[in-house]
Amino acid sequence: MEVLFPKELIRQEVSGRRWVPIPGEVREVYRLWRPTPLYRATGLERALKTPAHIYYKYEGVSPPGSHKPNTAVAQAYYNREEGTERLTTETGAGQWGSALAFADMFFDLETIVYMVRVSYEQKPYRRVLMQLYGAKVYPSPSDRTEVGRKILEEDPDNPGSLGIAISEAVEECIRGERTKYSLGSVLNHVLMHQTVIGLEALEQLRELEEYPDKVIGCVGGGSSFSGLFWPFYYEKKTGRSPKPVEFIAVESTACPSLSLGEYLYDHGDSGRIIPLVKMYTLGHEFIPDPIHAGGLRYHGMAPTLSLLVRRGEVEVRVYDQVEVFNAASRFIRAEGFIPAPEPAHAIKAVIDEALRCKETGKEETLLFLLCGHGHFDMKAYDDFLQGRLPPYRYPREKIEESLDRLKKLYPWITKR
Ligand SMILES: *Cc1c(COP(=O)(O)O)cnc(C)c1O
Repeated sequence: MEVLFPKELIRQEVSGRRWVPIPGEVREVYRLWRPTPLYRATGLERALKTPAHIYYKYEGVSPPGSHKPNTAVAQAYYNREEGTERLTTETGAGQWGSALAFADMFFDLETIVYMVRVSYEQKPYRRVLMQLYGAKVYPSPSDRTEVGRKILEEDPDNPGSLGIAISEAVEECIRGERTKYSLGSVLNHVLMHQTVIGLEALEQLRELEEYPDKVIGCVGGGSSFSGLFWPFYYEKKTGRSPKPVEFIAVESTACPSLSLGEYLYDHGDSGRIIPLVKMYTLGHEFIPDPIHAGGLRYHGMAPTLSLLVRRGEVEVRVYDQVEVFNAASRFIRAEGFIPAPEPAHAIKAVIDEALRCKETGKEETLLFLLCGHGHFDMKAYDDFLQGRLPPYRYPREKIEESLDRLKKLYPWITKR
């Protein structure tokens, strides 16, 4: 682990400490956009004619436009403290890469980003954003690493995946001097940094004398949703919640790790460099279909969230991209904000819950995370408006094949 991460982040990864203070220098950067606003969705409530009280915490006000700088800034700080000079990472559509490049600016770190090739080619604007923040950005698979060269030899047109990009970033980290690697989701320390979202939301709702019946968020690797719900989960488990609050994680039919994956040991990366973790997974060879525009494309899931889903403490919903963009479009007309496609998954679940409240006459309080704006996702919105986005489900057979290969590779993972 010490090859990849600074010691303090490893300590946070494995520690049982309940509270970790936010360092002053990190707070100084957070001040640019934190605390983030909590909105009551009065427009959406009116449009749906629901008795539900709908609230959303909006993380799109950060300069890169999502929740991701909450952990990027903390990671950059701890790395600088321990003498790191360069951080390598992967990015899909560019949200994580732009957050890390942004954070590294404040701590004089160099940023190297491996960007999934289809996104690099089809979504140039986030690449430009990363470059404006000073990062070096390479399309993945690339010819800069052994993993990348091997993949390109077998398939020169490989569109790339997060799993492949992670392997490349990790390889470059291992080779480099004073170089560490940085991950934008999944790991415990990343989720912990994101709890600033839930802690603020708890205080903001308290001021309004409200408490959620349901806390809802989209899940790719699980960091933004965990950041929102962990503080409420802690209250529930320690008998402090005034209500039996429930938690709903929302994923995409294009990448259904929690709903159709299996709870197994698997690698977080396609190159199998990263140690095995127990999580819901579609198999580390997963490559998302390019037809899918909704984000949330990671084959695995945070181990902590996987465990809570396994125990039935977090409920899972899954929607296809047409349902999701329809929900986003209703939200835009009612509230004005353009959500990123990822949180639009949460919006779909919220609308369903609010309509259920209308049927039953229940005045529930719903809290969800609007974890990023969609200003860089106009291509996806345009495709939606032109009717070019078909509903899409990742085929069950492909999941089974990929998991069969994983079980053959490590026969012990299926034993109890
Ligand atoms: C990265 C990202 C996600 C998915 O990652 P999580 O770790 O599940 O939060 C969701 N929404 C936005 C806006 C993102 O940038």
